[in-house]
Amino acid sequence: SRALVWFRRDLRCDDHAALYHALRASQQVYCVFVFDKTILQSLPENDRRLGFIDEAVSELQNKLREAGGELIVLFDHAENAIPQLASDLQIDAVFTNRDYEPQAILRDRKIADELKARGRCFFSSKDQVIFEQDEVLSQAGTPFSVFTPYKNAWLKKLAAQDTDFFSRAYPVQKYTSHLASHRWPSRPTLAEMGFQPDPLPAGVHGGSSAAETLLADFLTRIHSYHTRRDFPSVKGPSYLSVHLRFGTVSIRHLVRLALQEITLNNSEGAQTWLSELIWRDFYFMILHHHPRVTQSSFKPAYDAIRWESGAQADADFAAWCEGRTGYPLVDAAMRQLNQSGYMHNRLRMVAACFLIKDLGIDWRRGEAYFAKQLLDFDLAANNGGWQWASSSGCDAQPYFRIFNPVTQSEKFDADGKFIRRYCPELAKLDNKTIHAPWKAGALLLNHAGVKLGADYPHPLVQHDAARQRTLDRYAVVKQVM
Ligand code: FAD
Repeated sequence: SRALVWFRRDLRCDDHAALYHALRASQQVYCVFVFDKTILQSLPENDRRLGFIDEAVSELQNKLREAGGELIVLFDHAENAIPQLASDLQIDAVFTNRDYEPQAILRDRKIADELKARGRCFFSSKDQVIFEQDEVLSQAGTPFSVFTPYKNAWLKKLAAQDTDFFSRAYPVQKYTSHLASHRWPSRPTLAEMGFQPDPLPAGVHGGSSAAETLLADFLTRIHSYHTRRDFPSVKGPSYLSVHLRFGTVSIRHLVRLALQEITLNNSEGAQTWLSELIWRDFYFMILHHHPRVTQSSFKPAYDAIRWESGAQADADFAAWCEGRTGYPLVDAAMRQLNQSGYMHNRLRMVAACFLIKDLGIDWRRGEAYFAKQLLDFDLAANNGGWQWASSSGCDAQPYFRIFNPVTQSEKFDADGKFIRRYCPELAKLDNKTIHAPWKAGALLLNHAGVKLGADYPHPLVQHDAARQRTLDRYAVVKQVM
């Protein structure tokens, strides 16, 4: 029998559920990746993510060739291309890994129907997460909406099975002799597809070998993750998010390693890191049960909030996007995002909270901006993060908890190292004034060569007044509840 494995956000060939199932079930296994015109048409020609995907696809193609197979690479609408290719190659079944985003679910349903109409099968597997959909439910059989009990149930389910049942790797390499060893015409280049992506930041590469390098480095410091992860100028987190996004690393591999560190070394750092991986599953689960979160608040009462709009709000939004709010930590965070496509987790919280609760701007505008800029953009995690910051999400911060951007800066970038990296115009300010330059006297500013309003902006808003406006704005939530 003949199978086709359709790679999407799982650009690796080890520990790959769909590839494993196809190889076990069929004698001739073809592999395909589609640069999907339906998705690509909404992206700018310099979108950095295309560079990452392109590198990952090249590496995947090389690895499949080394194993005796091939990766067919197409530039087309996947909805047409997959059924057509299945016909051309006389495929019996298409295998793929499940995607949980609403648009992808619709696309897959259409393709499955089309294949069925032509007498072919469509199989999808769980690969992107440890537990999906209804696999972790409360004792009442309902989905969780609070993280801690979800996490406890998640850990309990994992431990209830044989040692590593849910995190075991799929041994793809045992069956690679079933890969179809045909050759395919050369693949389209990014330029031929109309893209000229901005270069990836130094040290970021697509492909599973780059993920392995990052992972090896992270494992040398995983034990201190819990104490270092909140400080943006420190190498604390793993930086693996983009690899999890495009599946150049397997979530099972990461969970296994975290569990090993916990069991062998009682590592608190690994325990905290595992919690973050569980947050990832949690938001995929929320998206599955509540796809409406992509449009509206998880807590409907929060949709009664009236956000700032009009010319002033547009100008404030542009200043936030460009990193010129006058709050150094927020500006450094936004410049990190714009320059590198990455933003440290603490700063994602600070920058999101500032947009929503200092500028009074609808969280959906920030969510959309992050979606355009982040290399690791993931609908479920991004929406979860934004709804957390706006207090409208499940298990979100309470609406009256409003980060003070100066206090956050003093706490998490005490020596101003991160600010100096992204706001060099403030570099000569001392460690105290760098967090709030407008509080420095004229003499200090002069001495540091900073002219407020010229070299660096005055603050867009006064935090205390903005805080009060936000409490008033959110009062509507109490009235509705
Ligand atoms: P590490 O600290 O090493 O964590 C390991 C992995 O755990 C991450 O790679 C990620 O897959 C997962 N993870 C960590 N924190 C979270 C979280 N809060 N929610 C879900 N998964 C998490 N993460 C994305 O992957 N894509 C997004 O689009 C995204 N948007 C966000 C928007 C906002 C407003 C906020 C507050 C958070 C967002 N996050 C998003 C979560 C988190 O900030 C990033 O996953 C993390 O900063 C990535 O860096 P890392 O790989 O070094 O993380």
